Amino acid sequence: MGLKLFNTLSRSLEEFSPLESAGRRVGMYCCGPTVYDFAHVGNWRTFVLADLVRRTLEFKGFEVTHVMNVTDVDDKIIQRAAASGTPPREFTGRFEQAFFEDLNTLNCLPPHHRPRATEDVPRMIALIEKLIGRGIAYKAADGSVYFSIQKYQAAGGRYGRLVTLNADGMHGEARINSDDYAKDSAADFALWKARSPEDGSVFWPSPFGEGRPGWHIECSAMSMNILGPSFDLHIGGEDLIFPHHEDEIAQSEGATGKPFVKYWLHGAHLLVEGRKMSKSLGNFFTLRDLIGKGFTGREVRRLLLTAHYRETFNFTMDGLHGARAALARIDECLEKLREIAGSAPGGGGENSGGEGGGDMLRQFGGALDDDLNVSAAWASVFEWVADLNRGMTEKAIGSAGAKSALTAWQKMDSVLGVGAPSDAKVPAEIVSLMAARQAARKERNFRQADEIRSELKARGWTVEDTPKGPKAKKI
Ligand code: AMP
Ligand code: ZN
Repeated sequence: MGLKLFNTLSRSLEEFSPLESAGRRVGMYCCGPTVYDFAHVGNWRTFVLADLVRRTLEFKGFEVTHVMNVTDVDDKIIQRAAASGTPPREFTGRFEQAFFEDLNTLNCLPPHHRPRATEDVPRMIALIEKLIGRGIAYKAADGSVYFSIQKYQAAGGRYGRLVTLNADGMHGEARINSDDYAKDSAADFALWKARSPEDGSVFWPSPFGEGRPGWHIECSAMSMNILGPSFDLHIGGEDLIFPHHEDEIAQSEGATGKPFVKYWLHGAHLLVEGRKMSKSLGNFFTLRDLIGKGFTGREVRRLLLTAHYRETFNFTMDGLHGARAALARIDECLEKLREIAGSAPGGGGENSGGEGGGDMLRQFGGALDDDLNVSAAWASVFEWVADLNRGMTEKAIGSAGAKSALTAWQKMDSVLGVGAPSDAKVPAEIVSLMAARQAARKERNFRQADEIRSELKARGWTVEDTPKGPKAKKI
């Protein structure tokens, strides 16, 4: 079965087939963070979704080029940097670094390209010039440059591809801000914002005067620069459908005359008590808040990947405890499998329970093919774990069976990305010796601690004391 995805462009499920004729290479763009603060776990739901899409495509043998921009210029950044008395570049650099650290904590694969808006301004200017040249953009009395929706439509462009719009409900309602007063029409949106005194040092020279790019043009310029005028996939949270993505389509297709993106994927929001998790509502947790409460990146990742991406999902602490319990069930099974896999062959029943995972992988892949039905994918994992546990209790799984089950898990985990803590590979008796050594050290009984260390050594393990506590390593 092929991969089916819900394309916001057609509002329907479509079979995924890349633009490239050979059909293996995929260009994928995900709107990145605006780096004025730490990302909250609502934001992370969307970035983890992008990671799920990429990993699923790779699982299916596609070669993905993954681009994620960093929005490091906008009103909030300018205001917050000024308020903190930090130069804007230093201010955004701090949150950009934190963002990529968090991305790593959540085990998201690093995007192949991560262009910064402030480093791509000449390309944005070139794109705006093209739109002016085509008569679709105009410079207004306030010195800013706007995109004219009316002219775009007159030139054959269709505005309202991702959403159904009525003529006067467009930008006027969606985002009223200080850019709006000089426009020909309330629906027009800014491509270039003329320099204002509040911008401080944040401005660039351009043929239309000093100023800075609008947010929408950033994504059009950066995505097309790396992926070309037409590419396969564009991903973001559902709040970006309008106006951000609608405007990206209009600008890009208005400038190139070519179809911009084949599949648009939008993730539903993470909610808190029924309301969108957001900075403005103040109902948010950052990843760091949760790590500070003792949760791990893989637990948060599992929580964010619990529900189907098109369903809103309520964030709760109970949900996080549930994620912890779910992962513990998997870890325990994997630990037992590793022990069996490491033992001498025999025990009978090799592959008798389907633990090699052929059927399992088909079921798992089938769930993902169904518009990334991750909850069905997890259900098949937990069924498999239950079967394996039964098989191991009945001593029906030998070392070859355990090894092939572990290989199947590796394949599944290449998509789920929840890994396994490294000490899960450490046999149970070594873990308990380690704990005993810790207890002895706590009681300042160093002789006993040393004896236990020797005992560990005799069993082929050494202890490394790290800032995160002692770790067992195979000699
Ligand atoms: P921002 O840094 O505000 O530009 O947002 C980064 C990404 O997070 C965008 O794709 C948003 O659509 C997404 N996002 C914001 N809030 C939520 C939420 N509560 N749940 C899921 N995604 C969100
Ligand atoms: Zn974008």
